[in-house]
Amino acid sequence: MPLAEAHGRIPAEDARAAVDLPAFDRSAMDGYAVRAADTDPPVPLRLAGEVAAGEVASAALAPGTALGITTGAALPDGADAILRVEDATVDGDRVTPAGPLPHGFHVRYRGEDVARGDVLAPAGSPLNVQRVTGLASAGVGAVAVHRRPLVHVLATGSELLEVGAAPEPGRIHESNRLTLRLLAEAAGAQVVLHPVVPDDRAATRAAVEAALACDVLLISGGVSVGPHDHVKPALEDAGVREDFWRVRLKPGKPLWFGRRDDLLVFGLPGNPLSTVACFLLFVGPALRRLQGERDAAPEYVPVRLAVPARPADGRTTLLTAALARAADGMLEATPTEGQGSHLTGALAASDAFVVVPHAAGELPAGSRVDALLV
Ligand code: AMP
Ligand code: MG
Repeated sequence: MPLAEAHGRIPAEDARAAVDLPAFDRSAMDGYAVRAADTDPPVPLRLAGEVAAGEVASAALAPGTALGITTGAALPDGADAILRVEDATVDGDRVTPAGPLPHGFHVRYRGEDVARGDVLAPAGSPLNVQRVTGLASAGVGAVAVHRRPLVHVLATGSELLEVGAAPEPGRIHESNRLTLRLLAEAAGAQVVLHPVVPDDRAATRAAVEAALACDVLLISGGVSVGPHDHVKPALEDAGVREDFWRVRLKPGKPLWFGRRDDLLVFGLPGNPLSTVACFLLFVGPALRRLQGERDAAPEYVPVRLAVPARPADGRTTLLTAALARAADGMLEATPTEGQGSHLTGALAASDAFVVVPHAAGELPAGSRVDALLV
């Protein structure tokens, strides 16, 4: 893939410098290229011309002479030190150093920064701006990266209305497909949204069947134990083998996960907060690992609790929270007043989820906790 399009992708193999850096011996300063031996004692040197960045001197520097040089320009053969403009006195075609210069003064030697073949972006580590910059500087124009996983998103629920649809009695506006698309794309996936599926066994089965041709299938809703939860039997019919159902998490307890060959299927509880929580802890890291990111895990940020907090129902609890920068520079988290997987207002008001481990007991104000930024 062209380097210019590879930001955020994961190298499939070590990406190495194509050239030495610097690519040639070059000046670190504006001034004069000289022979260090000619400056001890500091006598006037004859100015023999100039070499600017991008140029190459036409001849080697003769003893007793100096060549004007700009920052980044190639050192002429024979020169081995740079006399800085501010250390030189110029009189006509004579330039005199203020004092003797050591060998190599203000010269950046070929390969002293990076040698051709050095690994600048290891396989498995995301191509951040730093690594893209390093590769571009080192002459690399294309990199081998892992492909993006293809994610299909299904939402189940006879009550669901499309985003922006006119309200109807007994029905609610659907948000999870949009949320999942945003989160999955941010995690590097290619995302296809499928139509909403009503809570009907045959319809769910047909929709699941039609959505299986992908790397990761995300299904929203229908994984609880209600009479209208048809997702698990439909997945079973499709040959998707269950790995686990239910996690010690609030919100997000009904999470279902299974596989068919290489296909991963997540059944996400329908409440918008549960969907986001399960994505951040489970789906996002899985998508990043599928792209070859070796150490992908939930991206926790340390914060300090502004008020006491405790886990609920003996489950690891994700609290919607507002974040503010405290006087000492630390991020301070204040959980929203209402907490519950049905409280979309609290989600909208939050900057992050604060993680309270299931066995934490009551955490006093001031405790350091992990937060998941969304
Ligand atoms: P379920 O997991 O299907 O039992 O749904 C749990 C709750 O989430 C119910 O109140 C649903 O109406 C709601 N819900 C289900 N799917 C969605 C969705 N795609 N967008 C927003 N809310 C949903
Ligand atoms: Mg439902």
